[in-house]
Amino acid sequence: AISPLFFKGTVIQGFGRGSKQLGIPTANLPVEEYESILNDIPIGVYYGWANVHGVNDNKIYKMAMSIGWNPFYKNTKKTIEIHLINKFEQDFYGHQLNAIAVGFIRPMCDFSSLDELIKAINDDIEYAQQQLDQQPQYQNHEFFKHCFNS
Ligand code: ADP
Ligand code: MG
Repeated sequence: AISPLFFKGTVIQGFGRGSKQLGIPTANLPVEEYESILNDIPIGVYYGWANVHGVNDNKIYKMAMSIGWNPFYKNTKKTIEIHLINKFEQDFYGHQLNAIAVGFIRPMCDFSSLDELIKAINDDIEYAQQQLDQQPQYQNHEFFKHCFNS
């Protein structure tokens, strides 16, 4: 476990690298507010909890989150991308998303094939689910109730 990291923001369009086509869509958050935090924590994959305002009664889901580099900005800016572990019927661009990262899974790494990448992400998701089952403390954190539209 790590000391928890709190993120909130409006879901924006990502770089469109086709995460959704891989079956692993990631909701991208604006990074401006978090630049100093992002400079202090390792690039990589984290796990935790997240909800989306106005989607399924603001239900709080398990999530896996990547802090990475944004190729659109020639890898000078980082990205915050959150995969909620649930199948949604609709997109939620423009909605407010709140997330708490409670653990670190692995550093970012290069994969030699798409298959390896997909396998790694699926392993991340499975690991996140296992860890969160044993570590439910933050699922009902106040942050998920009071931080909308502020
Ligand atoms: P983009 O490059 O615009 O981020 P993605 O392929 O990563 O595109 O898809 C992300 C979008 O998919 C999110 O912004 C959200 O609206 C939608 N979405 C649907 N299901 C999920 C999910 N389980 N986790 C995250 N985003 C999801
Ligand atoms: Mg994305």
